[in-house]
Amino acid sequence: MKLTNYHTHHDRCKHAKGGVEAYVREAVLHHYDEIGMSCHTPHRNFKQLGTRRMSYDELSDYFNDIEQAQEKYPQIRVLKALECEYFPILFEDIKALSKQTDYLILAQHYIQIDGKFKDAFHFTEPRQLELYAAGIEEGMATGFFKILAHPDVFMTTYPKWDEACEKVTRQIARAALKYDVILEVNANGLRRGEQKYEDGVRYPYPSEKFWKIIATEFKEVKVMVNSDCHDPAYLNDEYMQMARDFAKRLKLNVITHL
Ligand SMILES: [Zn+2]
Ligand SMILES: [Zn+2]
Repeated sequence: MKLTNYHTHHDRCKHAKGGVEAYVREAVLHHYDEIGMSCHTPHRNFKQLGTRRMSYDELSDYFNDIEQAQEKYPQIRVLKALECEYFPILFEDIKALSKQTDYLILAQHYIQIDGKFKDAFHFTEPRQLELYAAGIEEGMATGFFKILAHPDVFMTTYPKWDEACEKVTRQIARAALKYDVILEVNANGLRRGEQKYEDGVRYPYPSEKFWKIIATEFKEVKVMVNSDCHDPAYLNDEYMQMARDFAKRLKLNVITHL
């Protein structure tokens, strides 16, 4: 089977190691067929995202680096992409970015609640999950996104699996079918290591319970396994293999190419 990865970062986001070429070289080394560079999108008017991003002025350098890698490594297909949050205020920006890239990944790292932004790595209440799923549906409905990154990231600090979790899982799955968006099994959640929760020890994500619902009730939802690597050495590491095995064990409808 030909290997691919469509969720890849690089050092301009200020929390990853190595430039575009380092990731492409690693992919070539492991005989990958295709690699999509999909670093965090810059936002013009979104201070909450702080400094852990490239800036808007760096976008053209990022695209140039990808184009250079495409020329230098003809043995692999290198795609131009970005990982983006979606809020209605960003519609025009995202639309413009969708025209400059091969694909966009939707990653709802934030919700707006009580007039503030709250990140998806720290949810504890059902209301936050509801807003998270609603944001995803809104993003998917734009038609700008091909992949939804770590749909189950809402479980990172959520204390235990409950009815709200089941509800948002089904809501996300139905939206994925409706708008033909691929759901991602994300290896980076495994790299975070097992954690203790009220209902036992598990990885923050991928969530076994989330993906069991997908596997049993939404068999036709397209699923992709991605590394979400922030270091070239993580492109095809043991966690990536664990993520592939996880998807295989649950008999998810895995696609390997966009
Ligand atoms: Zn990142
Ligand atoms: Zn990412």
